[in-house]
Amino acid sequence: MKLISIVVPFYNEEPMADHYFEKLFEVLNPLKNKYNFEVVSVNDGSKDRTLEILLENQKKHNEIRVVNLTRNFGHESAVCAGLSSAKGDAIIPMDADLQDPPEVIVSLLEKFEEGYEVVNAKRRARDTDTFLKKKTASMFYKFISKLSKKVKIPEDVGHFRLISRRALDEVLALGEVTRVFRVEVPFVGFKTTEVEFVRPPREFGETHYNYKNMFELASDSITSTTVVPLRFSLIPTIFFGGLTFLSLITMLVFDILFWCNVRPLGEFELMIWLIANIIGIFGSAIFVTLTIMSEYLAKTFKEAQHRPVFLIDKIYEPRKEE
Ligand code: UDP
Ligand code: MG
Repeated sequence: MKLISIVVPFYNEEPMADHYFEKLFEVLNPLKNKYNFEVVSVNDGSKDRTLEILLENQKKHNEIRVVNLTRNFGHESAVCAGLSSAKGDAIIPMDADLQDPPEVIVSLLEKFEEGYEVVNAKRRARDTDTFLKKKTASMFYKFISKLSKKVKIPEDVGHFRLISRRALDEVLALGEVTRVFRVEVPFVGFKTTEVEFVRPPREFGETHYNYKNMFELASDSITSTTVVPLRFSLIPTIFFGGLTFLSLITMLVFDILFWCNVRPLGEFELMIWLIANIIGIFGSAIFVTLTIMSEYLAKTFKEAQHRPVFLIDKIYEPRKEE
């Protein structure tokens, strides 16, 4: 039987934990004749009774493995700890607050049986989110999908998904310190599909995300996916470069006029014109240097990321003739 790992991070989830396991096992129990399960529960340095609750639940369900972190490392790192400890043939990371409904696991597994190695759980409606959160999220996905080019970052997909053993191994092998699961999984590729679900509101406890965390996540997602923002200095470079070019031409024109004894500008205008030229020339010098430096920085960053240039799914060899 295949082993399926459920990976769940817990941070101060005292009001949710019991309820979560109850709902989770309602879904897992009927599937136990088809699969073996392990529930890798990561306690991310909770300050309440979460760890005790996890251990109590472990007594009831021997599928539960508890990974206790030394302190609070944050959602992304806690998920990473769980994924690194998971032994399953397929792995399903999800939140502990039932916003990722356990029922969806059934459809994730169906797609896995059809041969998909990555099954994204896409949030269909985000009715529970505020208007501002919806708007910023959609703007972010548009922006990042423009920048990331060949790698398609799926919209409205968080951690919740199914990922096969070998796809997960490739993600873990990326070895970056700043882990952003939702952009690393699309990077490794593999046969991917999605199932949709409606994301319910959190029943108990409260969200651990605020705008500061969300900004950090957005920034990490962009910087670990693409170096395109480093190239933004090219725009002022072109602008200031154009200005310098114009100023050189006008300088030539003024020289010729001067020789012909024509003085179209007074002393004051001439001064302004000179200052504008100096700004243009300095500006272009600064931005040209910045652009060159950014290109090298981009290169250094990519080398430091040390990502594989390609990943082979399978090599189909010709059949040997006997
Ligand atoms: N979480 C965690 N460490 C943290 C913050 C959150 O392990 O520092 C867990 C939390 O217990 C939950 C999941 O990450 O299982 C998602 O957190 P939350 O529900 O607060 O995020 P939201 O659903 O609001 O995005
Ligand atoms: Mg939540």
